[in-house]
Amino acid sequence: MDDQELINIFRENRLKVTTQRLAICKFIVSRADHPSADQIYHALKTDYPTISLGTIYKTLGLLEELGLIQKLRFNESSIRYDPDMELHINMVCSKCGKIYDYKADNVKKMWDSIILDLGFKPKRQRIDIYYECDDCKEIES
Ligand SMILES: [Zn+2]
Ligand SMILES: [Zn+2]
Repeated sequence: MDDQELINIFRENRLKVTTQRLAICKFIVSRADHPSADQIYHALKTDYPTISLGTIYKTLGLLEELGLIQKLRFNESSIRYDPDMELHINMVCSKCGKIYDYKADNVKKMWDSIILDLGFKPKRQRIDIYYECDDCKEIES
């Protein structure tokens, strides 16, 4: 998604386009590692010294309402943001919390058969698989 597309979406929804909002949007849509608001804040604060965590939360909330990102809540202290709205599995390391997306034809096939069985199309879905990533496995051994 380029700047103009984002600006258009904001304008269509009568939302103000600010440089900070745009920077947050561009950051989150370019990431596949499901960052937290804190991580986004730390990544952007060098270039945008006046940015606040509040602005980040507010902007992420708007993007979620617009259907551009998903909010993945893991527990009270861990909320991550995912810009991929298509069907996929979130592969979550249960130790360090690292997340990557798993997408494959077999997931789509499995999902199609579940929907056929349910008899309705779900509004949205979230599939998480927990595992231990290579980095965390190494620390143990
Ligand atoms: Zn994901
Ligand atoms: Zn890990």
